[in-house]
Amino acid sequence: MKVLQGAMRAVSSVFGCQHGRLSRPFTIQQQSYMVCLDCGHKQFYSMQEMRRLSRKEIKRLLAIEAGALHLSAAAAEASLRSDGPSLAA
Ligand SMILES: [Zn+2]
Repeated sequence: MKVLQGAMRAVSSVFGCQHGRLSRPFTIQQQSYMVCLDCGHKQFYSMQEMRRLSRKEIKRLLAIEAGALHLSAAAAEASLRSDGPSLAA
């Protein structure tokens, strides 16, 4: 069973989860997300906008966390709403 769950997680990480049963949004270590109740896939969530984040927004968020982009907290939130990153001076 663990092999099947691992395979489902690997597939969902590449193609995204196709299941519809999700947990309520919750925040751990300043990161909000919902979890698929069938395969365990995490879906990042914006508590401010009360919606799941798109792949583009998630990539930007992870780049900010990794230090690839240096944004202030306000600029990071604004960049999630806009089309392009707005770099802080
Ligand atoms: Zn799933």
